[in-house]
Amino acid sequence: MRCHACGGLMHETRSDMPFKLDRSRIVIIKDLPMLQCDECGEHAFSDPVMEKIEAALKNVDQSAELEVVRIAA
Ligand SMILES: [Zn+2]
Repeated sequence: MRCHACGGLMHETRSDMPFKLDRSRIVIIKDLPMLQCDECGEHAFSDPVMEKIEAALKNVDQSAELEVVRIAA
């Protein structure tokens, strides 16, 4: 897969990613599989991973300001 930002080659990696839900709430998903660009560091998620992220974000504790989750991906 090629980077949509610079056209560089992307490679698979795993990393922790923060997702901001709104002004005060943030969810960190640990050890998330993603594609990262060697050239500019841009990242992308595959469709199945994106679906898991969306499902995980829906299931977080609505009152928590910071939550760390791990999804099976
Ligand atoms: Zn790039």
